[in-house]
Amino acid sequence: MPAAQAPLPRSLEPLPDESLPGFLLRLTHRLDLTSHQLARRVTLIPPDDPHARVSAAHLLMMQPARLHAFAEVTRMTTADADALTLRSYADRYPALAQALVRPGSIPRPRRLSQPWLLMNLSRYCPACLAGDGTPIQAAHGGPWKRQWRLAVTFACLDHWTFLRSECPRCRLPALSGRSASPLALLPAANAPRLHPAQCRNWLDGSGRREVCGHRLDGAEPAAAALTPELADLQTVLLDLLGSDEPAELASQRFADLQVAISLIQAGWPVAAELAPAATRAILEAHLTPQQQDGHDPGPAVESAGSPPAAVWSAPPGDSIATAGLLFAAYHLLAQDSSGPRSALPQLLRNLPTRDDIRWGRTWHMLAHQASPSLRRRIDQVYRHRLSADWIRQGAPTLRASKANTTQKVFASTNTLTDLGIAPEHIPQCLPGSWLLATTLKDSERDLTSYRLRRVLPVHLVQAISEMNFLEAAAFLGIPTSWTTQSRLRIKPLDPRRDLKNGDLPATLRLLAQHVLGQEKVDYRARRMQFSRWSIDDMTWDELCRQRPPGRGRKPNEHTRECASAFVWSYFTGSEFALAPVFQPPMRPHDRTLSLDMPHLTKLRRWESKEPPVPASWLCTALEEHARQVIATISHAS
Ligand SMILES: [Zn+2]
Ligand SMILES: [Zn+2]
Repeated sequence: MPAAQAPLPRSLEPLPDESLPGFLLRLTHRLDLTSHQLARRVTLIPPDDPHARVSAAHLLMMQPARLHAFAEVTRMTTADADALTLRSYADRYPALAQALVRPGSIPRPRRLSQPWLLMNLSRYCPACLAGDGTPIQAAHGGPWKRQWRLAVTFACLDHWTFLRSECPRCRLPALSGRSASPLALLPAANAPRLHPAQCRNWLDGSGRREVCGHRLDGAEPAAAALTPELADLQTVLLDLLGSDEPAELASQRFADLQVAISLIQAGWPVAAELAPAATRAILEAHLTPQQQDGHDPGPAVESAGSPPAAVWSAPPGDSIATAGLLFAAYHLLAQDSSGPRSALPQLLRNLPTRDDIRWGRTWHMLAHQASPSLRRRIDQVYRHRLSADWIRQGAPTLRASKANTTQKVFASTNTLTDLGIAPEHIPQCLPGSWLLATTLKDSERDLTSYRLRRVLPVHLVQAISEMNFLEAAAFLGIPTSWTTQSRLRIKPLDPRRDLKNGDLPATLRLLAQHVLGQEKVDYRARRMQFSRWSIDDMTWDELCRQRPPGRGRKPNEHTRECASAFVWSYFTGSEFALAPVFQPPMRPHDRTLSLDMPHLTKLRRWESKEPPVPASWLCTALEEHARQVIATISHAS
């Protein structure tokens, strides 16, 4: 909790879209303080620690107590103080959601390092920094804007110019301190008497530390002139950040753009002609070094001392190159992918394998944040136009390649195609009763066998389609890591050992017949539609009210996460462990699988109803709720 401070004698009114660092810089100038002195005064660092660093996390958001203290000292409303941070973009801009959100509690900064969030540097427009000529801006400069921290912002539309990516003198990104310094809100916090528009990067040379000090509000021209088509694109992107479009759709569109940019960078130069001519030379210079072997990223990256980086999932540092890629991605997504001139299939055919480290979080993003329609389109290309080679190459381990060969082993089961079952009608995880109907009925062991409940659906999808084991698992929404990485969580059955009758084709036929007797449900569509689902506050309160008086403890957050997973699994026919509450962005990044174990144990006890059932009233209420959700889905479709 920040210590209380008296309000400053003089403050400033925030400028439109001004960022917290920008506001602080103008205020240091007005009060003639160093930024370190000011940060202490406005309670961003403790009053008595001379070495405290102002955390860059404040740019994302300020916690309520700090927000109030800060607003009071700087004589503004808490709403105005909050508007200096990026928090309000969190539900529209996926990188911010990644950096902030945590389910079931107040959001707080979690993972500052997101490629599409410029936390330790800012792009800038010189004319904005120079101010608009009003007395207050003439005296202390214009705003360092918030949107310059979002990598999708590459141009200033007020001044019709590309944003600058680095200081013309020291050639480092603005407000970055030094290239290797840790994240700080304000570099050179102890340097006195700098104008807000002066470069604050440290020059490392000849042992003496000196601040660059170059004025960034000068008239140096950008490397290229902003074109109308790119200005239009910038308008569209800025509108997405604050439009009437539902936040979830906006977030999906940004995620789609990020995935498309990964594909374009990885497949470069296959889709090069989608980029505007004005940006192509700059793009070429940026992308060519990346296309060398991923395990040897070249001297540029090596010098930063980092491991081979996820370069494809990150935007270029340069705003003109970023503009070119965003434009290409925007048009790639806008094309009809079944049309004869579509670049997507061509691009997908030319991609490096999925295990290349340069992909970063691309595939995760596609699976969890991108729009269902992009997932479907990429899926279709793979299913209809590609050989399975690409997915197979993606398998990095020997054991996985053994899994691949099962395509041949089980080729003979490919006789169920005539039953008219579509792969999307197979649940990811078999309900216990289906398993009982399929295997020997007296077997308790089989009922609780998660392995069979997981693997049989994969084999069944194989049997009714042309997919191999890995493709079928991926189709069912099972993470690639489960089928390819060192400890396989899903691998093909050994019929003699794993099945009572030792006969996989016969078992699959029984299962297929059982599926035919069930109501047809598109489990895949449900999984996609509800890929960010959890129980909302109101429903949870209602559920909790059904607790009979005196029955055990009041359900806590842990129970609530389990409840969300339970209901989600019920209506999507999917694994508890793959429920959205256990996946990013809803799942805290620092929680490991072993920390999920108590959740999964609880869920299995709820499911099996094995005594002692911890909260039988809750199970009943959750099943009822799941049926209600299903009723609304079937009603809607
Ligand atoms: Zn400007
Ligand atoms: Zn500089």
